[in-house]
Amino acid sequence: MAGNGIFAEILDGDVFKYYADGEWKKSNSGKSVPIVNPTTRRTHYKVQACSQEEVNKVMEAAKAAQKLWAKTPLWKRAELLHKAAAILKEHKAPIAECLVKEIAKPAKDAVTEVIRSGDLVSYCAEEGVRILGEGKFLVSDSFPGNERTKYCLTSKIPLGVVLAIPPFNYPVNLAVSKIAPALIAGNSLVLKPPTQGAVAALHMVHCFHLAGFPKGLISCVTGKGSEIGDFLTMHPAVNCISFTGGDTGISISKKAGMIPLQMELGGKDACIVLEDADLDLVAANIIKGGFSYSGQRCTAVKVVLVMESVADSLVEKVKAKVVKLTVGPPEENCDITPVVSESSANFIEGLVMDAKQKGATFCQEYRREGNLIWPLLLDNVRPDMRIAWEEPFGPVLPVIRIGSVEEGIHHCNASNFGLQGCVFTKDINKAMLISDAMETGTVQINSAPARGPDHFPFQGFKDSGIGSQGITNSINMMTKVKSTVINLPSPSYTMG
Ligand code: NAP
Repeated sequence: MAGNGIFAEILDGDVFKYYADGEWKKSNSGKSVPIVNPTTRRTHYKVQACSQEEVNKVMEAAKAAQKLWAKTPLWKRAELLHKAAAILKEHKAPIAECLVKEIAKPAKDAVTEVIRSGDLVSYCAEEGVRILGEGKFLVSDSFPGNERTKYCLTSKIPLGVVLAIPPFNYPVNLAVSKIAPALIAGNSLVLKPPTQGAVAALHMVHCFHLAGFPKGLISCVTGKGSEIGDFLTMHPAVNCISFTGGDTGISISKKAGMIPLQMELGGKDACIVLEDADLDLVAANIIKGGFSYSGQRCTAVKVVLVMESVADSLVEKVKAKVVKLTVGPPEENCDITPVVSESSANFIEGLVMDAKQKGATFCQEYRREGNLIWPLLLDNVRPDMRIAWEEPFGPVLPVIRIGSVEEGIHHCNASNFGLQGCVFTKDINKAMLISDAMETGTVQINSAPARGPDHFPFQGFKDSGIGSQGITNSINMMTKVKSTVINLPSPSYTMG
């Protein structure tokens, strides 16, 4: 159970401690932040509300620990990461339990998130050993006007202190996708977990603690993003920010200094359906892509753009599957569980009411109890409706009927977002042309958008992000290139 057994030391009374300088601590602020269970709408856990002074201490310790860590052999860094991954997987049950209680993730999916996170950490350790163990060697005579008098040696070196801020929907997976690349590359890491999901993240951090990482190298400060977020992101000790979340990322980008940023932000992933598509395959992917974890995924299908001639048939197939989705508590592994908060449910309801007022066709009756919203397909959505453009982050999916493929591409590209998209057709040539025309970081052909596997490059265009993730890209992003040039008094050419 959460906060028990090997996790007992992370709990003080009914408040979970924060992690700094290799120890679990109570905040001097004397304040805590409640974490409301989305299902019961009652406070389920509490975490420390860390103070600015505590953040300063964490940053100081992170700076000092990084200097030593950068001198730790690469194989040893990898060894510790493998150890943390094994501990994480071994203790998946209590961590998954936190995900069920804090963010209403269906129980089975919660376990999958922890296992996937352990796999990600191990893969990152292996990939880091490969790509950081090699550098480049350049000779000067490949550039016009030069002889071979200069040898350039380049290698990838750490950035320093990496600040990681993940969102509520994958508080473990999207934390380790930042922690593992940062550490293997020789950085120290300060984690600010999302408030909903903080307790799962604290349990995950304890697994790294048990693996034996040096004091101060990893820290986890808790508190509301709206209260300590700016102080963290503008802290002079921070050398890199890796953030995943919504529009907050855009304001962080505007305020951050001259440091590398990795931003994974929102999406409005379009699903373009052509006349020749396999409609059973499309319907199955719309259900999986649009309604898994109640639509609270950055890469959820968030708008269906279907050719008018096959729209009736597709909508019928999707409707038949929507009625089969189970709705209820995450403990019972229901397909649709309560959305993360009341304000989120209210926001989704606002989009639904706007669509109703403007004449969308409701394929099911709109139903809500507390934070639980029944799955809803909205047909005949038009561009003047908010749901055509905004990210509901809930189990509500708009269908826009299109008269041409160009219309679908135009809608996709008119969005502020550009995370992923998908196209369904049996014609690979058409699929390639459409993929090239879609201004999104990834296009899936004949499958719903998805983030994984975790080593694939993953990036958002426009307001969906800065930089590219995926294990290799994240490791590279959390390093900088250092060159040393050997200058020879006279040209030297290697003879065979
Ligand atoms: P969010 O409200 O932007 O919060 C994300 C994180 O930022 C949380 O840890 C939050 O902490 C913190 N935060 C809030 N205010 C801050 C500030 N001023 N400075 C620094 N940090 C601050 O997003 P969310 O509701 O958790 O997640 C949903 C969004 O994430 C959706 O838009 C979704 O599309 C996006 N997302 C994108 C990806 C991707 O890979 N592109 C993946 C998953 C999710 P608190 O919880 O304490 O407020």
